Amino acid sequence: MKVLVVGSGGREHALVWKLSQSPEVDALYAAPGNGGISRLAELVDIGAEDLEGLAEFAEQKDIDLTVVGPEGALAKGIVDVFEKRGLRIFGPNKAAARLESSKAFAKNLMKKAHVPTAPFATFDDPQAARAYVRQLGAPIVIKADGLCGGKGVIVASTLSEALGAIDLLMEDRIFKQAGERIIVEEKLEGQEVSIIVITDGNTAVPLLPSQDHKRLHDHDKGPNTGGMGAYAPVPLVTDALTQQVMEQIIRPTLKGLAGEGILFRGALYAGLILTAEGPKVLEFNVRFGDPEIQAILPLLKDDLVSLLDDAVEGRLAQTSCQWMDGSCVCVVLASGGYPGEFAIGKEIRGLETLEAREDVTVFHAGTRRERDRFLSWGGRVLNVVACDADIDSAVKKAYEAVGQVSFDGMAFRKDIAWRALKKPVSR
Ligand code: AMP
Repeated sequence: MKVLVVGSGGREHALVWKLSQSPEVDALYAAPGNGGISRLAELVDIGAEDLEGLAEFAEQKDIDLTVVGPEGALAKGIVDVFEKRGLRIFGPNKAAARLESSKAFAKNLMKKAHVPTAPFATFDDPQAARAYVRQLGAPIVIKADGLCGGKGVIVASTLSEALGAIDLLMEDRIFKQAGERIIVEEKLEGQEVSIIVITDGNTAVPLLPSQDHKRLHDHDKGPNTGGMGAYAPVPLVTDALTQQVMEQIIRPTLKGLAGEGILFRGALYAGLILTAEGPKVLEFNVRFGDPEIQAILPLLKDDLVSLLDDAVEGRLAQTSCQWMDGSCVCVVLASGGYPGEFAIGKEIRGLETLEAREDVTVFHAGTRRERDRFLSWGGRVLNVVACDADIDSAVKKAYEAVGQVSFDGMAFRKDIAWRALKKPVSR
């Protein structure tokens, strides 16, 4: 089978790594890929959002299956473009991708399908939004409707912060059209976890629950980032809780979409908050989480290509996932200054030693290969991933491995998985 992976981050490296282990895969391509991916797949110089260019390539090379990483390509309709040409592709079509590309669409669907989520109202008019916020008071959450790279949510603890957020989104348009419409919702309290499922639109197979770390600094301080680390599974999420999420959240959402004539095929990511009243949805993503999937795939026993293929073919009713025992943790190494301004082109030292280890895996997020060396080439640069019998040992192993690699300005969190640790480690 010839497989093409679309995207260029740590998530795509993890997908390529797992797909490359399949006996069914004879050729692997990544567009545009990154330095680390180049050792497992042939890189194709086509951007992830050049839909026609990608479809052209898939047709020319007789690609049997395309796997899409990032939401941008899905929101633009890559699946529709491929399917129109009869090309097989894993991911939701443009209509289904609205679950992520429009928060208002997702919230209205949840309301209709009785999926637990925070009470909300949507606004196209800033004046009306201000009046509503004044009426409800703080704390309150303001969200841009459209895609903002994870930055369009303001959890306001004061009224003036909430009013300021409305100004930034709707008047100053800091996220352009993404902020034309906003959602104002109640602030919920609880631990956040994610459940990602692979679905053919009718049946959904849950992957291991995971927990991301969005803030830049230890103790969940500092600005939001794309994610500074993750681990799986989450001890707090029992099998019974996963079943509850499947019954109360995932299935009604898929059914709700079906009621609107939309079949969701692909990875559906439910960002959940575990409130005293039970799990509620904070957001849906329509793809694998980055860096969550980097901590999930190393524990998957099954062949990923068959799983994705079963989803595309609508055969998931006969499928389940087998998992290895133990835990897996992913620590993100970022460029100094990220998520703000940062420098690239810094030589990564110690990578060879680290990559020679059998007990640790390194996924490249933003690197560039230059002959025998690798340079930092993005905000998030590397993912150091370690599995072990329990989360404490996995964390210890991952941080010991992090100590073997360095580049100028390297920044990382030292407390990934702290909520799951049996005994806090002092570093
Ligand atoms: P979202 O992109 O909607 O998941 O929001 C990003 C982050 O904002 C979440 O991971 C939460 O930490 C926070 N957040 C969003 N909505 C709420 C809410 N209703 N209550 C509390 N925190 C929220």
